[in-house]
Amino acid sequence: MTRTATAAVLRAHGTAPVLETVTVPELRPDEVLVRIAGVGVCHTDLTAAAGGVPLPLPAVLGHEGSGIVAEIGSGVTELAVGDAVVLGFDSCRTCRNCSRGRPAYCTRFAPLNYGGRRVDGSTTLLDAAGEPVHGNWFGQSSFSSLVVATARNTVRLPDGVPVALAGPLGCGLQTGAGTVLHTLRPEPGSSIAVFGLGAVGMAAITAAKIAGCNTIVGIDPNPRRHDLAGRLGATAVLSPDDRTARQIRDLTGGGVDFAVESVGSEAVIRQALSSLASPGTCATLGLRAGRNPITVDQTHLLSGRTLTGVIEGDADPHRFLPQLARWWREGSFPVDALVQTFPFEKFGDALAAVEAGEVVKAVLTFEQ
Ligand SMILES: [Zn+2]
Ligand SMILES: [Zn+2]
Repeated sequence: MTRTATAAVLRAHGTAPVLETVTVPELRPDEVLVRIAGVGVCHTDLTAAAGGVPLPLPAVLGHEGSGIVAEIGSGVTELAVGDAVVLGFDSCRTCRNCSRGRPAYCTRFAPLNYGGRRVDGSTTLLDAAGEPVHGNWFGQSSFSSLVVATARNTVRLPDGVPVALAGPLGCGLQTGAGTVLHTLRPEPGSSIAVFGLGAVGMAAITAAKIAGCNTIVGIDPNPRRHDLAGRLGATAVLSPDDRTARQIRDLTGGGVDFAVESVGSEAVIRQALSSLASPGTCATLGLRAGRNPITVDQTHLLSGRTLTGVIEGDADPHRFLPQLARWWREGSFPVDALVQTFPFEKFGDALAAVEAGEVVKAVLTFEQ
């Protein structure tokens, strides 16, 4: 059986992906065919489209997909046709880090998520001329109405959450929330500053509230983000300038216990470090293309301060995504407050809104 799908195909870096008809070949035994209901736009998609990630072209991006299982490979036992699922990043599930529950640091993370091909070298997509199109971007390439994923990165959703809006759980929201809950692990009553109030930062604020932080400072130059951060749990919101670190130290009687830095620029990392108490820990998350050298003051670190980096919230999607969905259903992790939907045909409008900072999280939806 050959299946056709509509996908946004990137043919040259720096150009806009164009909607094309693609075909999806027969599934391998470990694969899952998912009919996508919605897919979030993540900044890493934009970084890759600009050429910042060595993904071979032509390719289909998109890595915050959710939808309904349409078919399973012969070896898949943990999923069934009709299951509502959210897709996470791919990981081998067998290496040293995967075996100890830390698949975000899978030793095969780069080839599995950025390689554009299956392990056997074939591609999961063909264009109208029958030529290979690279899929497997984060194990999914979900800017497409049909996606070939695997049982490794397909996670069944609990009942009672809107499937079409669940995709951002799989990357941006998992990243922000996991960084707080798995890496920083604030005790109740702690203080935290979150630099950058995109979807990642908003998820960090929400998780900080869930963890019981009593001082939560959000920092973002876009004033349209400030009200939402407050509704999610921020106790103070600042627009950044030269005095930001001092303001945070004043607000908190000497500095915050924790900082989340979701921008990735040297200036913001330095500001986040300067806002820390002693001791204190800053986690940096924002992916910049290629190398990103920064200078930090070793003297400042000596007083028990830590700078660490985190991928995908150091989460195992099979455990963490259902947890986030249950918090969403219970009202403590309101994904729908972060999301603005666009029909998939309005792909260009969604990308423009993301690039202009007009939406916290754009989700492209497909007619089911
Ligand atoms: Zn692994
Ligand atoms: Zn992402």
